[in-house]
Amino acid sequence: MFQFKIVDKERLNDMIYSFQIDAAAIARQAKPGQFLHILPEGNVTLRRPISICEINDNRVRFIFEVVGEGTRLIAKKQVGETLNVLGPLGKGFGLYRNIDMPKIMLIGGGIGVFPLLQLAKDAKLSVKANSFTYVVLGFRSKKHVVLENDFNRYANKLHITTDDGTCGEEGFVTAPARRIIDSEEIDGIFACGPKPMLKEVAKLAKNAGIYCEVSMEQRMACGIGTCVGCVIKTTSGYKSVCKDGPVFDASEVDFDD
Ligand SMILES: Cc1cc2nc3c(=O)[nH]c(=O)nc-3n(C[C@H](O)[C@H](O)[C@H](O)COP(=O)(O)OP(=O)(O)OC[C@H]3O[C@@H](n4cnc5c(N)ncnc54)[C@H](O)[C@@H]3O)c2cc1C
Repeated sequence: MFQFKIVDKERLNDMIYSFQIDAAAIARQAKPGQFLHILPEGNVTLRRPISICEINDNRVRFIFEVVGEGTRLIAKKQVGETLNVLGPLGKGFGLYRNIDMPKIMLIGGGIGVFPLLQLAKDAKLSVKANSFTYVVLGFRSKKHVVLENDFNRYANKLHITTDDGTCGEEGFVTAPARRIIDSEEIDGIFACGPKPMLKEVAKLAKNAGIYCEVSMEQRMACGIGTCVGCVIKTTSGYKSVCKDGPVFDASEVDFDD
């Protein structure tokens, strides 16, 4: 029932793979920021959460870095084989406010850039007068930069930063993000990446009075809110990343927990 055929596989760099599955049922319902729960098969029993990166008609694209056994097993799968996938799960971007805002900024760090691609695409498709999408993506170095062409297709202005300056601007995403906030009227910020990055982005947004949503990538087990293995502290108590998130209103998240 949850078996979907792999119709495309691409290796983006040493450790990162892009897959597309033929999954009309998922594609019909999926929203940017939601995730798939993928069973690696083999000697791994728990599913692994991977964000929905792009929806192309009946195809759902996801991209992941190989970090351990689960992702290593998924990466071994080939076009024509099937994957056991649950989804779409969780609550995506636009949860608290309509993302149909004229000027938005998407900020991604590392593997956190993946769920932002469909958001950039949706923003481009719902284009309105004065609408503009800034995208700021941060990576460790040039060899880690992925999806530059894909984001260039949908962003009005794309900024790339690398920690070591080997591609784009040297430093963290927060520097160009701050400049954009200072020079433009931004209506909303949508971010995904490591927790320290999200904490800084949330601070920037709060100081500028800009609505901000963040996607939290906590380790998780069940994926449907029953095991409470992925809870985070918020202003309204502990919440499950898998069921109440992974996208949260940034002003509600306790980043120091
Ligand atoms: C909602 C959500 C969406 C995600 N989307 C993506 C995505 O689009 N692309 C992608 O590459 N990864 C994504 N991740 C992270 C991905 O789920 C983990 O990297 C994966 O489960 C690791 O499984 P593994 O068996 O290969 O590694 P494991 O053996 O389980 O772990 C290997 C290493 O990765 C670390 N790790 C495992 N899970 C996480 C996590 N959630 N956050 C931080 N570190 C972790 C472990 O601490 C360990 O150091 C997402 C996570 C969540 C919660």
